[in-house]
Amino acid sequence: MGNNGGRKVVLTASIAEMAGWDADPFIAFAGGFPGRLFPKFLLRSLYQPDPPNADHSAPFAPYGLRKIEATLLENGFDDEDVITVHPSRIKHVMGPKTKVVGVSSMDPLGMAYVSLTYTSLTGLGGTAATGLEFWRLMQNPAFRKYQTPRILGGAGSWQLQNPKLRQQYGFDCIVMGESERTAPKIFEKAVRGEKLPPIVTAERPADEDIPIIRNGAIYGAVEISRGCGRGCQFCSPTMKFRRNFPIEKILKEVRANLRGGANMILLNTDDVFLYGSKERFLPNREAVVNLYKAVVAEPGVNVVQTAHASLAPAIIDPRMVQEITETIGQKSRYFYRGNPVVTVEVGVETGSPRLMQEHMRGKALPYDVSEWPEIVCEAYGILNDANWLPLCTLVTGLPKETEEDVLLTLDLVHRLRRFKTFFVPLFFVSLEDCALRKEKTLNLRGLTELQWEMFVECWDHNLLHWRDTWLADIKETWINRQLIKLIGGFLYLAYYRYKHGGKSKRMLTRIAGILGKDYRFMLPFSHPFGGELPKVLTQRHQQRISLLPVIPGSEDVPREMHYANYEAQYRLRT
Ligand code: SF4
Repeated sequence: MGNNGGRKVVLTASIAEMAGWDADPFIAFAGGFPGRLFPKFLLRSLYQPDPPNADHSAPFAPYGLRKIEATLLENGFDDEDVITVHPSRIKHVMGPKTKVVGVSSMDPLGMAYVSLTYTSLTGLGGTAATGLEFWRLMQNPAFRKYQTPRILGGAGSWQLQNPKLRQQYGFDCIVMGESERTAPKIFEKAVRGEKLPPIVTAERPADEDIPIIRNGAIYGAVEISRGCGRGCQFCSPTMKFRRNFPIEKILKEVRANLRGGANMILLNTDDVFLYGSKERFLPNREAVVNLYKAVVAEPGVNVVQTAHASLAPAIIDPRMVQEITETIGQKSRYFYRGNPVVTVEVGVETGSPRLMQEHMRGKALPYDVSEWPEIVCEAYGILNDANWLPLCTLVTGLPKETEEDVLLTLDLVHRLRRFKTFFVPLFFVSLEDCALRKEKTLNLRGLTELQWEMFVECWDHNLLHWRDTWLADIKETWINRQLIKLIGGFLYLAYYRYKHGGKSKRMLTRIAGILGKDYRFMLPFSHPFGGELPKVLTQRHQQRISLLPVIPGSEDVPREMHYANYEAQYRLRT
């Protein structure tokens, strides 16, 4: 039990969301992979928290939770009242005096894009690791013992709106939306012992309602802007009011992180290139570069990473991109073949201008979305030239997507072959807080051969560019190779052939072919060239052989990769 009967307000999140993931925001994607894929002990080793402070509080917590902590402290709660803890410390800070528990989650049921796609694709099904750990959190014995009211907030809170689920997880109140203005009122109600409304849609906060975080956030996150304004119908940030935060406020958050012991800063934004933009969708180079300069110059900042960017502003102002690279210099989080590179998540989503017009009309602004594939390639050229290696999401299964649309996405993936990027292909998910919430979410059973092909192409690309880095350690020991063979062979024979049949053969055999001779043992189980091409793709090749052009300048791609499989030969024809 906590000192003096426990803290009045206890804030927490699941161990997956409280994890630092080795200060690697991209590795955190693994939280969306199926919980059953990894044994519990392995998962737990990935979630290693930082040692707690003397009062059991967490030195680092999810940014959203830190925002709520700061909001409460700004609105009448004392430092002594509020504590943010890792789940393992809940028993030390709860007691009879605890009036309310606040929980934050991005993905409590494992229903976000990455979770849903990869639990389904690996075929293990079940719940994503994030969902599993959230369930484990809610089983904490201290919650049962003290029967304290529980409030859920965060980007994934919509997932527990259903009254049955809410009850099952033991929540009295679910808060949805930006909650800086609403949260203090709800927590005060809980402290007074009043009944809480089951669902609350938060009132939009004014800029002055948004406080500066007081303590360290995971990855050293600081919020530089909120909302996007491009209006993609499948996305939730678009529902938020777009705003930029002033540099002075951002630097105060940087310092809060540094005080907590961080040496890395993650610039949280939906579009870094539009930070400080004065005209709609036109970048303000001075504002963006000055922001980076100010953050990099803070004593103690050794690493600077950025969350998201859009592509069009890079074309408008390539010099801005180059100046950011120069400003970050050696303070990059990632290295490629020994050199520092800048990474950021970008949304390409589809190669079909028709589908863009339907669901993402604002994505290319100020350009016309009808030229989307050209915009993507042009922006990639500029980004790669400036040493940026983006992580790129693609979404299949959007409402009204046709085979032609998937083919156009495949075309675009082929055109991007020469560029350094990491693809994250995803199923469309109808998030409750997006404009397409009433549409059907794509699942594995509904995946067509062409959609499978898109996943194959994307992972083929990833392995082509990144395999040397990934396999570097494994290659060193014979025992590791044998282990991989054993696990791979088991998965392949016992599971994929049985469950997904022909559709997945190509994925497995392509991966085997690309990984190298040690992994080709999987090939005899399938077609020697990775299985038959989907018919519609073969026809397309016959009609438009130049569809998959050989890309000049791809000399850095290992030569044998061009011939690793049957369809790659099409790329060599002109
Ligand atoms: S550009 Fe990105 S963040 Fe903005 S609405 Fe579209 S998907 Fe969302």
